[in-house]
Amino acid sequence: MSAAGGAPKVSSSLLHQRILSWYAKEARNLPWREPGTSAWAVLVSEVMLQQTPVVRVEPAWRQWMSRWPIPAALAASAPGDAVHAWGRLGYPRRALRLHAAAVAIVERHGGQVPDRSTELLALPGVGTYTAAAVSTFAFGRRTSVVDTNVRRVFARVVSGVGQAAPSLTRAETDLATTLLPDDADEARVWGVAVMEVGALVCLARAPRCAACPIRDLCAWQLANRPAYEGPVRRSQAWHGTDRQCRGHHPGNVESHDPTRHGNRGGRRMARRRPPTRPVSGEPGQGWSGRTSGRRRVPAAGSLEPDPWHRGHRKSVMQHRIAVMAAPWLGNLMPPVAAVP
Ligand code: SF4
Repeated sequence: MSAAGGAPKVSSSLLHQRILSWYAKEARNLPWREPGTSAWAVLVSEVMLQQTPVVRVEPAWRQWMSRWPIPAALAASAPGDAVHAWGRLGYPRRALRLHAAAVAIVERHGGQVPDRSTELLALPGVGTYTAAAVSTFAFGRRTSVVDTNVRRVFARVVSGVGQAAPSLTRAETDLATTLLPDDADEARVWGVAVMEVGALVCLARAPRCAACPIRDLCAWQLANRPAYEGPVRRSQAWHGTDRQCRGHHPGNVESHDPTRHGNRGGRRMARRRPPTRPVSGEPGQGWSGRTSGRRRVPAAGSLEPDPWHRGHRKSVMQHRIAVMAAPWLGNLMPPVAAVP
């Protein structure tokens, strides 16, 4: 099919067969993929994996689930405990949103993670991707799950272009729906299987085509891998990212997508903090404004990564570092910002 959309020329059933068979043999063993994993555990893994590699998430996830195996357990704890337990996963606002989600689950759903998309989407910190992921990975719903890895694989295999568009398009979501297997069991595994292909084989910068289970079906490969000529992605979006390195999403972590922020293998974002921001005392976007010298507290109501924060890691390497810890946590929080 063309990059703009339309019915795929490749056989959907053959794609399903190849990718699902490959996944059955090659998928990594990740704890949140094990049969019987609770919806809460899946939700926690999804939130942790939003911006953190699998290798760092796994031990934190195990500790988290040991301490708070159900939403009610986390809801009964202080938000600061959640942030503290977040450790070095980064972007600790996610811990606050996860705590808020636990409270909402207790208050609105009797402590059970809801299985309806509308109810999932109403939870703090749960966006379209996370809702779809929980819906299909935890509840087996026949729902298409589209993250950066999936978009890249479909762009290459079906559309014949080297990378997906800068932002998710309607054509992509329609294509993902079209490619969803009819069989419920296959559909439940399909999303994570495609993600795994994107994470382990169809890497952003150096796809391992020789090891690819769908090499002979890949439009981009068959066209001799033409250079990408579409619009360039300027920055990474929050939803639908590699997170997506999730293990459900296992791994985009291993991929080397230069557009990815964080340390998932690609070059890190080099954006610097806006020069107008003072050294201390003034909150940046996404921060509560509750400051104390060099210490700041993330805003509980904001999970969107602010541009300055996205670039802080690079700044850490280039400027004098100031470790900012939540004042109510002493020095237990990981570095979250750099001050030139
Ligand atoms: S053949 Fe290469 S580009 Fe195509 S899906 Fe496989 S790894 Fe990706």
